[in-house]
Amino acid sequence: MRVILLGAPGSGKGTQAVLIESRYGFPKISTGDILRSAVQDGTPVGLKVRDLMNRGELVGDDIVAALVEEQIRRPESRNGYVLDGYPRNLAQAREIERMDGSRPEAALEIGLSEEILLERLSRRWVCPRCKTITTQAKPGEVPGNRCPKCREPLVQRDDDKPEVIRERLRVYQEQTRPLREYYANKNAFSLIDGSGTVEGVFLLLSIVLDARLASRTSGH
Ligand code: AMP
Repeated sequence: MRVILLGAPGSGKGTQAVLIESRYGFPKISTGDILRSAVQDGTPVGLKVRDLMNRGELVGDDIVAALVEEQIRRPESRNGYVLDGYPRNLAQAREIERMDGSRPEAALEIGLSEEILLERLSRRWVCPRCKTITTQAKPGEVPGNRCPKCREPLVQRDDDKPEVIRERLRVYQEQTRPLREYYANKNAFSLIDGSGTVEGVFLLLSIVLDARLASRTSGH
């Protein structure tokens, strides 16, 4: 199964993708994480995408498609995978079908109001090494400085600045929102309330995923 997590920046896709990976064994493919590593390592791809990412714009479809294709061809992805941050527009949705068309899909959108998204993003800190995401009690508060898992000093993403956040939300509405209808037309779409706790949202996601996986095995 191909699990596609949709949802605006800050909706919790990355966190839920990790939980889906550990429960269902579908490796998480996060285009944002892969691109940020490329920027951090100064690779040719990283140099190409850095400015676009810092402005909150999408990077070229061809660049991301190549990164995703490499991941889905790995033996670990044979039984399925969870996409976090891909597809981001209709061209990418068609592209993933070209790469791996026969696989059943579930597109799950984690829905949250813009007000909560803005508030959450301003409190987000991430570990540059293991990518663990931490949400602080107050905006700007530094969480003891270290990752709760691997003790690396935490950082705030360059694109979590208020003006860039606004641009990312605008890009989401304009380019990614239409995927709702696209997957709804394929009977693959579910909208999940993202306002609960991490565990609560995961419970809702897993109810939908379990049902979709069960209907696959029973042939419906
Ligand atoms: P994310 O961590 O998913 O919010 O992604 C961070 C940034 O990486 C985005 O604002 C884009 O600049 C870039 N990015 C990530 N995924 C994609 C994608 N599928 N297509 C284009 N750009 C992407």
